[in-house]
Amino acid sequence: MSEVKHNWTKEQILEIYNKPLMELLYEAAGVHRKYHDPNTVQVSTLLSIKTGGCPEDCGYCPQAARYHTDIEGNDLMSVSHVKAQALRAKASGSSRVCMGAAWRNVKDGPEFDQVLEMVRTINKLDMEVCCTLGMLTENQAKRLAEAGLYAYNHNLDTSEDYYKDVISTRAFEDRLETIGNVRKSNVTVCSGGIIGMGEKLEDRAGMLVALSTLDPQPESVPINALVAVEGTPMEDLPPIPIWDMIRMVATTRIIMPKTQVRLSAGRTEMSPEGQALCFFAGANSIFAGDKLLTTPNPDVNEDMELFKLLGLKPQKAFAKGSKPETVEAVESQLTDLGEKPKWSRPGHTISRNEEAKIRAKEKNQS
Ligand code: SF4
Repeated sequence: MSEVKHNWTKEQILEIYNKPLMELLYEAAGVHRKYHDPNTVQVSTLLSIKTGGCPEDCGYCPQAARYHTDIEGNDLMSVSHVKAQALRAKASGSSRVCMGAAWRNVKDGPEFDQVLEMVRTINKLDMEVCCTLGMLTENQAKRLAEAGLYAYNHNLDTSEDYYKDVISTRAFEDRLETIGNVRKSNVTVCSGGIIGMGEKLEDRAGMLVALSTLDPQPESVPINALVAVEGTPMEDLPPIPIWDMIRMVATTRIIMPKTQVRLSAGRTEMSPEGQALCFFAGANSIFAGDKLLTTPNPDVNEDMELFKLLGLKPQKAFAKGSKPETVEAVESQLTDLGEKPKWSRPGHTISRNEEAKIRAKEKNQS
């Protein structure tokens, strides 16, 4: 019988989440020690290779073009710039570079070819390469795999029920379809979500049902705390208590025992003690670097100080999987299909997103 259970229900997950805290921590730490070295933490650097101007309306995101935030957009980064940043990340202890582009979906063409070259370049530095580029077809996933991609990030964000209150420009099923396309290649899956967006506990459990019932479960699950950015529809939401983060990490660890649970956005609001409890509860991955795409993140030196204090060490690249081969563009067997897939556009109205859009228009006119 498989050690990993794939039929978790919302009720079972809520029962775990709501356990007395000491019991929850004890159980999660036990699972963590069984499957992972509790003193090793994987460190990734997130690099925004194309910032801002995104056509989507994710209510939490300062990169959506329709909201008025202080984000300065830029065009796709050059391969040499990406290489320089990756070398810096490696020198400061990161084993993985995650490249994010503010796109709705990947489009075949010169920009995607440039991203494939970035993947090849970082792979040759003996680092794990991850991309988060929006929705993806099977052929695009296979082309990324052929270039040497190690992981693809595509967050479910929240439960299927609450998704309609956060985003109107795409549907939850599109997310699952992209994850399915990634699974048709040998690229690993990184998928998680955000807490503190006004969701109920049932939604947090619902998101964990959706992730844990995937077979195989994602190799990496980022747990983000909302960073409420001025100008976005969620600008007024209060920060979540640290205890919610600890409970979410512990629950994720118990139901997805082999997964790397990643402490993501919101770490600047967490004390060293809070982060230590998250590591004890089963978090074994962080994003390093002073920015998480566009939101603040602790300084690398601060992280290394914390690691020293807690006796943690950064995980080596490819500790949990083998290094993918890189096929050069000229030797590629896969062609650019020039695909134009019809991802859905539910188009329902989310009043707080609409209000933020109107406020942005007024600000732009004044
Ligand atoms: S989260 Fe991604 S898809 Fe959504 S608005 Fe931001 S950049 Fe665009």
